[in-house]
Amino acid sequence: MLVKMRDNVSDSDVTEVVKLIESVGELRAEVHTGVRHTILTIIGDLNDEGLEGTLRGNPNVDRVESISVSYKLPARKDVDQRTIVDVGHGIAIGNGIDVPVCAGPCSAESEYQVMTTAAGIRESGAEILRGGAFKPRTVAGAFEGYGEQALKWLRKAADEFHMPLQTEVMDPSEVGIVSNYADILQLGTRNAGNQRLQDAVGKTDKPVVLKRGINDRYTDWLNSAHRIMYSGNEKVILCERGLQTTDDKHLRNKPDIAAIQVIHDLSHLPVQFDAAHSVGFIRYIAENFHSGVVAGADSLLVEVHHNPKEALTDGQQSLNLPQFDQLMQEYRMYKDIRDQVLASRAAANTGL
Ligand code: PEP
Ligand code: MN
Repeated sequence: MLVKMRDNVSDSDVTEVVKLIESVGELRAEVHTGVRHTILTIIGDLNDEGLEGTLRGNPNVDRVESISVSYKLPARKDVDQRTIVDVGHGIAIGNGIDVPVCAGPCSAESEYQVMTTAAGIRESGAEILRGGAFKPRTVAGAFEGYGEQALKWLRKAADEFHMPLQTEVMDPSEVGIVSNYADILQLGTRNAGNQRLQDAVGKTDKPVVLKRGINDRYTDWLNSAHRIMYSGNEKVILCERGLQTTDDKHLRNKPDIAAIQVIHDLSHLPVQFDAAHSVGFIRYIAENFHSGVVAGADSLLVEVHHNPKEALTDGQQSLNLPQFDQLMQEYRMYKDIRDQVLASRAAANTGL
């Protein structure tokens, strides 16, 4: 941590602040006196939020800057550090080569719907099945999912078509039951910051997809990942799903494509890009999805329904099976181009 003293402070004011810092644990303060500014560097493991507050409140202190991050566990420690999360059925997220596509209905609505949709997406190349059993809804009284019955349909389809199953868990009390069926536990945007839920999924051995909270800054999102990892579960995948927008008529959320690169800079955890919820309308999904591929997402998510017109939730953003098949053909083209571009960039070595 760096402490900048106010201009024109006396030597005794500086000494007083040094004493204050050194009265805490094993901390040491070094004084750097320049022509205009006096800066103190604090050396040692600073785990005391109280000291930071006291320093900020000291009349002779101008600014306090932290140079370490709060989210220690997901933080990337060196350029090559990358976590690869094994999500089952031979699928890995984050290896920098494969970019598995997770697809399926917003909600699991019937055995027929789940099986028909799963068969179709698998045929087109999806590698992870998604589907909601416990559904968070914005408006009370709306359909909230078929619960355990839905988990049974989803598990059957995942086994039959050899795909790991990603599904949301909303409440700590439901982590046990969802874990009995799911390969990947999803924390949705509405519950992403729920600390009891973070603790509960952190105590399982299941990979966790942590969606970005609707208004999360990068630090908030990474602090949530830290908390899950702090409970012992290191298999965390961060999912960018768009931020709240000021225009809720034309765009449901605002995708933050740059988040994929920023998170790769800040963290060693892989990033899934949710191309469906981040825009909310079928007409925008393909280009949004491909942008995620170009930006370097480690996995993509999209919602698919065998008959979107009859979907109980999110029909407006659910692709039908022919649309998903077309998307996957385009995806393979974009993925090839991206691989070629990265190879050519590495060969040129210009630092771009
Ligand atoms: C979902 O994936 O079905 C979902 C509800 O997503 P989000 O939490 O991002 O809104
Ligand atoms: Mn949905």
